[in-house]
Amino acid sequence: MIAQWLCSCSTEPNSIYKLNICAKCHRVSCNWCQKPELLIKYCPGCFRVAESEGQLRCVHNCLECPRCELILSVSMEKLASGHKRFEMVCNGCSWRYKTPEVSTLKTLTGCVEELRKKEDPYTQRFNSLREFYGFKRELQYMEEGGEVSESIASKELFDRLNETKLYKMINEECPIEFKDTKDSGDIALPLPLRLRAKFDYRCPSCGEWLTKSHPDPRSSRFLLESFAAHMLPSLEIVHRSKVEPSVSDENAMALVFTASDQSDTPVEITILGSATIHIPVRQFTLAYDGPVKCESTMETIKRLVTRVPTYQLNSNTNILATEKSRRLTRPETAPHKNNMIDQGSGWCILPMYILEPAKTHRIQLTIPIKGVYVTLQAVLH
Ligand SMILES: [Zn+2]
Ligand SMILES: [Zn+2]
Ligand SMILES: [Zn+2]
Ligand SMILES: [Zn+2]
Repeated sequence: MIAQWLCSCSTEPNSIYKLNICAKCHRVSCNWCQKPELLIKYCPGCFRVAESEGQLRCVHNCLECPRCELILSVSMEKLASGHKRFEMVCNGCSWRYKTPEVSTLKTLTGCVEELRKKEDPYTQRFNSLREFYGFKRELQYMEEGGEVSESIASKELFDRLNETKLYKMINEECPIEFKDTKDSGDIALPLPLRLRAKFDYRCPSCGEWLTKSHPDPRSSRFLLESFAAHMLPSLEIVHRSKVEPSVSDENAMALVFTASDQSDTPVEITILGSATIHIPVRQFTLAYDGPVKCESTMETIKRLVTRVPTYQLNSNTNILATEKSRRLTRPETAPHKNNMIDQGSGWCILPMYILEPAKTHRIQLTIPIKGVYVTLQAVLH
């Protein structure tokens, strides 16, 4: 069984990692209802920022596989003639392409686009249709009394106009025939790599910034974030037998709440279950032994280990084994106290009993975040 969370904008449950909590109005929001603002567009190959708003693909040397869209690795071969040849290979689907001899080269994407104009029947067809409709429109414009446009004015045109009526020419004009239209499914040329975008997001209720990314394309840092996962404890649902091997009832479950690593002040949480489940605890407190960040790394690790629920401690590493025996010899928690199953520094295990089998069950949590109570709905399924 897993827990997913609801955003007020929909009934579709989300992963906790997709939700944000506004620092100003405390509204919970998801990517669907947040307001995005474009920060930058950049090429994920060369990390150059887009030069114009309408640019969609790299204009330098990054190419992608036309089959699976992965970035292509390019190798160069110097020929005896002094010319060069490039080979492009997709490491994903093994698609490969070798360019003809190239004498001068400004950019690889430019070279590929030139080849496309010459070799690709679809590009040729598109260009001839564009030319055809452009010419036809100009002739129609002339028929309506417009002046001859400079782009089509030529001796040839005037010679033809002497012999033929304009309306006839408009009807006669036809684009080049599209030969070899059979789509063999063979894709001949690589494509310039498509750009990626970074967005900043605003709260849908009050407009306050929720996330701000670093403007450097190489950085995945956030200048500002409000991820719910950093503010809320994580919730895992397991069979109670996993925590208490003596319990064999299939409908007996356990809710395991673990605080995020960054928390160190006690949090009092109110919990309410839907009619299909029974949770005998209404309120519980996640308390801490002390802050996680200690002076030495070893101490920080030891403090983090105290935040692992006892049933999850195995003896795979020394540090886990030591903590386990420490808890067994000096139990710091009193099981079944206040109806709880187990409790420790930054974690708490609550019993939950399934009364009626259902596809989904709901719980509602009320948690104080920066002094304000925030209510969240979780869907268990
Ligand atoms: Zn807000
Ligand atoms: Zn939403
Ligand atoms: Zn690039
Ligand atoms: Zn590929």
